[in-house]
Amino acid sequence: MSTPPVPGELVLEAPRRGRPARHLMDLDAAGRRAAVTELGLPGFRADQVSRQWLTRLSDDPEQWTDVPAAARQTIVDALLPTLLTPIKVIACDEGQTVKSLWRLHDGSLIESVLMRYPDRVTMCISSQAGCGMNCPFCATGQGGLQRNLSTAEIVEQVLAGARALERDQIAGGPGRVSNIVFMGMGEPLANYGSVIESIHRINDPAPGGMGIGARGITVSTVGLVPRIRDLANEGIPVTLAVSLHAPDDELRDTLVPINTRYPVEEVLDAAWEYADRTHRRVSIEYALIKGVNDQAFRAERLARMLEGELVHVNLIPLNPTPGSAWTASLPRDEAAFVRILRNRGVQVTVRDTRGREIDGACGQLAATQA
Ligand code: SAH
Repeated sequence: MSTPPVPGELVLEAPRRGRPARHLMDLDAAGRRAAVTELGLPGFRADQVSRQWLTRLSDDPEQWTDVPAAARQTIVDALLPTLLTPIKVIACDEGQTVKSLWRLHDGSLIESVLMRYPDRVTMCISSQAGCGMNCPFCATGQGGLQRNLSTAEIVEQVLAGARALERDQIAGGPGRVSNIVFMGMGEPLANYGSVIESIHRINDPAPGGMGIGARGITVSTVGLVPRIRDLANEGIPVTLAVSLHAPDDELRDTLVPINTRYPVEEVLDAAWEYADRTHRRVSIEYALIKGVNDQAFRAERLARMLEGELVHVNLIPLNPTPGSAWTASLPRDEAAFVRILRNRGVQVTVRDTRGREIDGACGQLAATQA
């Protein structure tokens, strides 16, 4: 396990532990054709297999009847290694919330959560094994960063959920994944290249990707300012969520240590620039921690900073982590916080806490297993 970074140290490079084997989902459509050609097969076989894999959600080569059996085997052997091994699957909310703990080829553990709502299915996925951002209230942060995930390791989390849904293995009947949130383990913008590639695999139309709309994809970040700017230039209007958690640098330095490098004002400037460029409403995440960041004066200060912007505040009742003295805010303090924001015309919702009883909220299952 890596040493947690010094607060303020930006960990953009994860320590290298053997890369996972190359996988079809690491490559874009052109790269897949090239890889298949290298195997001595016609390039169009890559498109056929991609449609099976990403559109028909079929991971059973027997069913790829448009591809000759020998070619299927060659492609599976060379380009479709198993990347995620399920360790544990737990359901709650009458089977509408399902959390999976996965083991990667090097023993790293990651998790993903599928949440079914009346109007949508959201998958919460991991972008890194562990996390280097060291936020003291977050379970994942306590274990440090193990490594970045490959593009395919990210995409396969989505596909696993999509397959389960399509095969009627999730309560509520067969369905499709409509929303993706990068709110599992890791800091997605610290694994920028693989995360952008995975967004292409998720968003691109067939045979390139799964065709899930950019509007349904949310990238959540501690606020790595240069990477927020890069994201604005990608031309994929995903929703940006910024984990603010405090309106003032003094407190945010302690809750989100990277704040010493990218302070509140710079993070919000980058966020407004993102909203300008993409016309997408930015989401501000704020975990309400009793007696720490939930005071009325902080709500006032936050409201003044956000009023008039294309923004929506997502208040998250703190999900207490084992061994921490911090707990969620009292209901009346939460209500007052909401009221103060609304009075200044700032849109705000309190996030429902799906999956709490299965530690589905924040890196806790992997933490207890590790
Ligand atoms: N690294 C990204 C994604 C992290 S998880 C980020 O920081 O945005 C998604 C959200 O869950 C973040 O806003 C994170 O701060 C929040 N979170 C982490 N631990 C939490 C906890 N114990 N209770 C409530 N929210 C938590």
